Amino acid sequence: KEFRDLNLPESLQKGITSLGFTKPSKIQERALPLLLQNPPQNLIGQSQSGTGKTAAFVLNILSRIDLTLQQPQALVLAPSRELARQILGVVQVMGGFMEGLSTYQAVPDPSTRGQTVTGQVVVGTPGTVMDLARRKQLNTRGMKVLVLDEADNMLDQQGLGDQCKRVKQLLPKDVQTVLFSATFPQEVLQFTQFFAPSANQITL
Ligand code: AMP
Repeated sequence: KEFRDLNLPESLQKGITSLGFTKPSKIQERALPLLLQNPPQNLIGQSQSGTGKTAAFVLNILSRIDLTLQQPQALVLAPSRELARQILGVVQVMGGFMEGLSTYQAVPDPSTRGQTVTGQVVVGTPGTVMDLARRKQLNTRGMKVLVLDEADNMLDQQGLGDQCKRVKQLLPKDVQTVLFSATFPQEVLQFTQFFAPSANQITL
């Protein structure tokens, strides 16, 4: 299997090359054909960091962004600012050949207080995203994709799971929901049921 077989736009092929990837990793090979289907399908993936899951969900997001629309279209929730920053870096390199792509890192920042979020791809921690949405700085109506990364780590932190659920309730009903977790204890399974009932599931 090759990235070419996925029929991604040329700009994304260039992005993949610029990251130095030659062949899809195992999780990419399994997740991408499901993620890229139309109509969009929900996906729950069991996957640890180091497997290439980030590039898998980032490629799906970027393939669905309408560059002519200056509004938030995809949202990634991560359990830490550091992880959010890393994911945003992958979005920017992978999307480096998509002219006009805009991104936004949702971290607490007093200097942007009150400003409207204009990024097409928004990556952040649940609390900050929730605050932005509640203050109407983040328009959630045009969101097409929601990704929850490291769901098990999210639920290990007091309150983050509930914040994720509140964010989800502000998104369009038909948002494509993608959830990755390394482990699936009972509480993660329940969380998964809330976000993506009847999702495709892949385990590595
Ligand atoms: P992740 O699991 O998303 O944290 O990615 C782990 C590491 O694998 C990152 O450093 C990626 O740059 C790298 N990586 C992801 N996909 C590929 C690929 N298809 N070929 C080579 N390296 C990759």
